[in-house]
This record gives sequence, structure tokens and C-alpha cells, in this order.
Amino acid sequence: MTRIIHADDEQGLKQAAEGLRSGQLVAFPTETVYGLGADALNTAAVKRVFEAKGRPSDNPLIVHIAEFSQLSELVREIPPQARVLMEAFWPGPLTLVFKKSPRVPDAITAGLDTVAIRMPQNPMALRLIREARVSVAAPSANRSGRPSPTTASHVAEDLNGRIEYIIDGGPCTVGVESTVLDITVPVPMILRPGGVTREMLEAVIGPIAADTVLEVSKDQKPRSPGMKYRHYSPRAELVIVRGETGKVTEKINALVREKQEQGLKAGVLTCAENRERYNAPVVIPAGSIKEPSSLAAGLYQALRGFDETDVDIIYSEAFQEEGIGQAVMNRLKKAASGKIIDI
Ligand code: AMP
Ligand code: MG
Repeated sequence: MTRIIHADDEQGLKQAAEGLRSGQLVAFPTETVYGLGADALNTAAVKRVFEAKGRPSDNPLIVHIAEFSQLSELVREIPPQARVLMEAFWPGPLTLVFKKSPRVPDAITAGLDTVAIRMPQNPMALRLIREARVSVAAPSANRSGRPSPTTASHVAEDLNGRIEYIIDGGPCTVGVESTVLDITVPVPMILRPGGVTREMLEAVIGPIAADTVLEVSKDQKPRSPGMKYRHYSPRAELVIVRGETGKVTEKINALVREKQEQGLKAGVLTCAENRERYNAPVVIPAGSIKEPSSLAAGLYQALRGFDETDVDIIYSEAFQEEGIGQAVMNRLKKAASGKIIDI
């Protein structure tokens, strides 16, 4: 049985924190997406996270903390650059990769000698972690491969009956996962673009390495193991159409017609501005292109929206790859398994 805890339920939050301490699984809101939490130093609890999600065991978890003092039990050293970054971006959507302390279970790091850590900004997340008095390993609270959850009901869709608690803190404000930055290398490297943009990082620590690893092929060993998996995907096939706006609209409408002639139903993922330009049975806007943060906040909800229809294929516009748009397009390309039509 999964118990849903509402935002104003102080007693419930305390019980969930107690549950975390005793090895239970608690899904909780963060500013990025909902996380599925377990006591990070309890190997059995961490293993249950992988089971509940159906997550491959070679995909490591991010450890969430609420106090800077929690770092000392988790890492071997805190490089000077890390201090500057933590000062600037914690609490917030930036995950830092450190050399791990021997106390961190291999189950969390998938056998790597590094550990990824962040301090979330969401007040309920911080209260839960403080109340539990443990560091909390938490991947996104979805079944592996599905779009990440940005509401408590997304979590329930995927994990109801598999975990003890879901804390409902309303919709996530950022909507895409944290930026993962490796600071164990001479020049820091973005392993996953996210809520803190490259420009924001460079303004604080100067140049960071090119993120070529983001396009890593299936047979290479990626530095961020999670990036090799099909991810964030709706049930129907997803194809991105990229190019000048007018041409993209025309092409997508032609593709939709073509599918209809074959007896198939096509959906379109777009922005609020272009919604009316499409002639398709299902058209879902992720957000507004005037407000790129709204595209990030609405992306996963939109992808999950197609799962509630019976579309056979989804065509998506490509969005601007600037600022938070880098994270949006990174997720969209993964959701599409890299299928892009350039026109
Ligand atoms: P999720 O929790 O589902 O957002 O996924 C966590 C992401 O962080 C995955 O892409 C992991 O590959 C990445 N990650 C976690 N730990 C490490 C680590 N020690 N080194 C590099 N990447 C990591
Ligand atoms: Mg995930």
C-alpha cells in the first residue's frame, strides 16, 4: 500500500521521514522532478529503489542532502571549485560528482569511485531530509524508461503499490532534471544538461569542457552511465522535425496526413504559439516558446499526455537549444531515441 501525504500534513511528513530512516521508500517533490528516496547508507533500501523502478543496476543514483555537513560522510575530498559552486547554486538543480567515501554503498554508485550529490531547493524535500536525519539516494520517481514525474499523480501512475509513501508537493517548478557536473576532472564537465545552464556555471567558474559525451554511442562506456539508456519515452514512437518554423509545420502536417492514409493516428508535440497550425487528432503544447522555462516545466506532462491517447506516432517540433533549452532538447532527443528529420 502506498500512502499519499499532502503538503499540510505535518504528522504524515514526520511518519514518512521515520519510514525513510527505517529503510522504506518515499517519493518526494523537488524543484526538478519527483525523486524516489531511500536512506543512502542502507544498501537494502537502495536495492529496493532499483527494484521499484526496474532500473538497470549499472545506472547510479544521486544522493540528496539538506545540510552542507552531510557531505563529509559521503565524499573523500571537497575540491575548492566545489565550494564556489555549492555557494552559488545550492540549494538548487545542480548535481556535483565527487570522489566517493568508502562508506557510500556500491549499489548507489554502480561500482564507480565517484558519487553524485545535490541539495534540492524544494522546502518539502529539505524538511523530509532534515527530519529523516539521513542522506537520501533518489533517482526520478518513474518506472525506468518512462517520462520523469513532475506531479504526485505521475508518481502514483508508475509506482503505486511499489513504495510506502508519496509526498504531494504540487507540480515541480523546473520540470527537467538537475545538471550533472563532474568536478573530479581537471576541467569540469557537464555530463547532463539541466536546471542550471552552462552559461550560469561558466559565469562562476570559467570554461567548462565540451559535452561531447552527451552524444555517446551505445557501445562506448559513458561517463554518466544513465545517459546511455532509452529514457523519458512516451509509449508511441517519437520523431523530432527540425528546421525553419513554417517548413516544420508543413512537413509535420504532411506526415500526419500520410499516417492517416495508412490508417494510423499521429500526435503533435508543439508550443502554445503553434498549436493552431496543426491539423492532427492530438496536438499537445509543452509550453510557450516566449518562456523557455515553461517548455521545461511542461515537457514531461506533455509526453505523458500522449500516453493517455491512442496515437501510434508523435511528431515533435525542435525547440531552441539555448539556456534551459539545452536540457529540454537533450531529453526530447533521448525520448525520440535520436530520431530527427532535418528539413
Ligand atoms: P536520475 O536520478 O534518474 O535523474 O539519474 C541520475 C543521473 O545521474 C544518471 O544520468 C546518472 O548516470 C548520473 N550519475 C549518478 N551518479 C553518477 C556518478 N557517480 N558519475 C556520473 N554520473 C552519475
Ligand atoms: Mg531518471
